[in-house]
Amino acid sequence: MERFKSLSEIKNAFANGSTDLEKLVDFYLNRIEEKKHLNAFLEVWADEAKLSAKKIQQKINDGTAGKLAGMVIGIKDNICYKGHKVSASSKILSNFTSLYSATAVEKLLAEDAIIIGRLNCDEFAMGSSNENSAFGNVLNDVDNSRVPGGSSGGAAVAVQANLCLAALGSDTGGSVRQPAALTGTFGLKPTYGRISRWGLIAYASSFDIIGPITQSIEDSKLLLEVMAGKDEYDATSSSNKNIEYSKQVSENKKFRFAVIKEAIELDGINSEVKSATEDLIEQLKKDGHLVEMVSVPELSAMIPVYYTLTTAEASSNLSRFTGMHYGYRTKNGKDLESTIRKSRSEGFGAEVKRRIMLGTFVLSVGYYDAYYTKAQKVRRLVANRTAKIFEQYDFILSPTSPSTAFKIGEKSNDPMAMYLADIFCVHANIAGIPALSFPFANDSNNLPIGMQLMANHFEESKLLSMVENIRPIL
Ligand code: GLN
Repeated sequence: MERFKSLSEIKNAFANGSTDLEKLVDFYLNRIEEKKHLNAFLEVWADEAKLSAKKIQQKINDGTAGKLAGMVIGIKDNICYKGHKVSASSKILSNFTSLYSATAVEKLLAEDAIIIGRLNCDEFAMGSSNENSAFGNVLNDVDNSRVPGGSSGGAAVAVQANLCLAALGSDTGGSVRQPAALTGTFGLKPTYGRISRWGLIAYASSFDIIGPITQSIEDSKLLLEVMAGKDEYDATSSSNKNIEYSKQVSENKKFRFAVIKEAIELDGINSEVKSATEDLIEQLKKDGHLVEMVSVPELSAMIPVYYTLTTAEASSNLSRFTGMHYGYRTKNGKDLESTIRKSRSEGFGAEVKRRIMLGTFVLSVGYYDAYYTKAQKVRRLVANRTAKIFEQYDFILSPTSPSTAFKIGEKSNDPMAMYLADIFCVHANIAGIPALSFPFANDSNNLPIGMQLMANHFEESKLLSMVENIRPIL
């Protein structure tokens, strides 16, 4: 079977009779089996997917199918699906079954998407290489000695290796975009609040958002359109109405691009990533767009602000995992306190513990003002700076990550080096704006280089339409 890159290609194949939904699901199930060594899927819901394929094929025949009929999708293992296991790739939640579905999942199902399985990720979405999963790391399909990025590494590789058409990830500080960049896929982080967080296992609630990883912009639009919208279960979800992304046509408009000077001049940016960025700038200028350098002196503060605030929120969010109500419980507890302490010590992995400790530290009496309050103030400065840039420009352009896919183990003993992989991504989460990573070039090892565009709040349509006009140099 050929590789389908979008739902519309699949629909065409259905229409001309070259395949049908049941054959398509079998095809993906075989691919998953063939590519098992990548460790992208933690669980495949094969029987259920086959059954849905049968039912939805009937609806297609009857002309009553929803707009995602034909979409076979995987979900990151931190997104709840009623009656199915969800573990956030953590021992502390192993064998936990969801009691309800995420709103995003319900919306996909209502439009007849098929959810084929759950995808490996860094534990509680904390990581940039998928090496922090309690269930083993995920391999990059271009080069199996390299990481896929993280934390939605399984989601990105499932799409990269064509194990499903698209996947859902979550993005707190780059977890959709950075793995998309490292695997040559499209990763969209919508405006904060655009998609309900109901049913997404919380990491840092004022940053978290679900986002699609796809093989085409067309499908990013479609999935966003289906999942976006106000939800009574998430008070931070937005009622902004501009959500018919798939109907927006790309215009030949000329835009203004701001390139962050400090990003291009960053020590440690890979030279091939830098030159790809320069190639993109040239292309945009040739196409008649305005491209200018702007200074964002706060760039060097982004990672500290991100880690101060997200660890603070994580320490609170993860306090619910006590071993008492659900998930893993130690066998060695003697009383309530030792049971909770041991369940948490044995159930959480090293990176999660590091962040819980960091978070409780920055929130502790005596350090609260010095760290937490200060970081909140810098968050405001970043938001103000960003708003100012958007008074003059339509988009902010940077590479998605300073390097291409790195070797497994290369950064795992150096948290600082690992944290820097997200230096260009965290900006969008700190400011709450939408951002998209798209494949633009390959380096000399044939590894994908992703570029990132950020836009102002709720301007996903403009963002997605613009990227459709960019010509990758692959
Ligand atoms: N890699 C970043 C981190 O480790 C981002 C994670 C995310 O977006 N979930 O926190």
